[in-house]
Amino acid sequence: LTVLGLETSCDETAASVVRLHPSARGGRAEVLSSIVHSQIDDHAAYGGVVPEIAARSHVEMIDGVARRAMAQAGLDHADLDGVAATAGPGLVGGVMVGLGYGKAVSLARGLPLVAVNHLEGHAVSARLGAEVAYPFLLLLVSGGHCQILEVRGVGDMRRIGATIDDAAGEAFDKIAKALGLGYPGGPALERLAQTGDGSTIDLPRALLGRKDCDFSFSGLKTAAFRVAQTCETEQDKADLADAVQAAIARQLSERSERAMQAYAETHDHRLFVVAGGVAANKTIRRTLEATATRHGFDFLAPPMAYCTDNAAMIALAGAERLALGLTSDIDVVARPRWPLDEARALSDPSHR
Ligand code: ATP
Ligand code: MG
Ligand code: FE
Repeated sequence: LTVLGLETSCDETAASVVRLHPSARGGRAEVLSSIVHSQIDDHAAYGGVVPEIAARSHVEMIDGVARRAMAQAGLDHADLDGVAATAGPGLVGGVMVGLGYGKAVSLARGLPLVAVNHLEGHAVSARLGAEVAYPFLLLLVSGGHCQILEVRGVGDMRRIGATIDDAAGEAFDKIAKALGLGYPGGPALERLAQTGDGSTIDLPRALLGRKDCDFSFSGLKTAAFRVAQTCETEQDKADLADAVQAAIARQLSERSERAMQAYAETHDHRLFVVAGGVAANKTIRRTLEATATRHGFDFLAPPMAYCTDNAAMIALAGAERLALGLTSDIDVVARPRWPLDEARALSDPSHR
């Protein structure tokens, strides 16, 4: 199955062609092209993503980006089996652009349309680098979400825990902003942390010892803001960056550990996957891998290029749905909010 994927839910205009080869282990994904146009320069002056600017930029870029993805794959629309577009959650103005473009391609070329949940895209992104059989335990850590899910099959997920306030990526971004590092803050904070030593900075440990698998980053954020005000030198800032990164890594690891213990009681096949933009952080990858190994879990993270937003993960999620006959009606609407537990809803006939 060969699918064109479109992603416009935030500040990346992206298109990709992915071919899914069937296999006993759930399918091998071949990325034929992946184009990502980042709007970072358009938003940098505002210290964050401005929805109206994002939507306009998607309108300007989507056709060129999609054509480049087709050209780089060396394919004609006749070679496609379907078109998949992010239908939410995200900034709805942007989502409407990609979904509308996908509908146009679907109608003009007579191709099935698959409306994809952006988070389902992140959930399958590790499958772009390796064959992964369902089920698996997933830590989804992105700019807007921080959740642990049991992924049972295509679009079939059960949420085990979630953040009660900020997402991990959001914490990275806000603390980085307080340190004057600009947007997006995660990669900049990771770079700065390399030259720091945060071992003497005391940051709060949230939810320690709690039996559930929820997260909380607002206390850490407030404490980090306070320390940031006392930073005088570049070294002070680097030390704080290191402390913040270590604290986030530690909480992600501690909460995942709880989930692994519960998951292991009911599953013989033990695989732990981390995905989303924050999964690009090397300290966090390393910490989680060590934790997974310690608990007898295999560990997998997406290739670096597919941690942050991209369309290859959307094309793959679309291909997996298409293989099961889960397509969408042409009048499917963009959804600003769309919890993953309801991910089947937009394309499963039994939910219509
Ligand atoms: P969502 O997927 O929840 O809708 P999003 O699409 O904006 O949100 P992603 O693109 O998955 O989020 O990830 C972006 C987030 O990842 C940002 O918060 C960014 O700071 C963070 N991030 C990216 N690289 C790193 C890194 N190396 N270290 C820490 N955080 C990072
Ligand atoms: Mg982004
Ligand atoms: Fe995302």
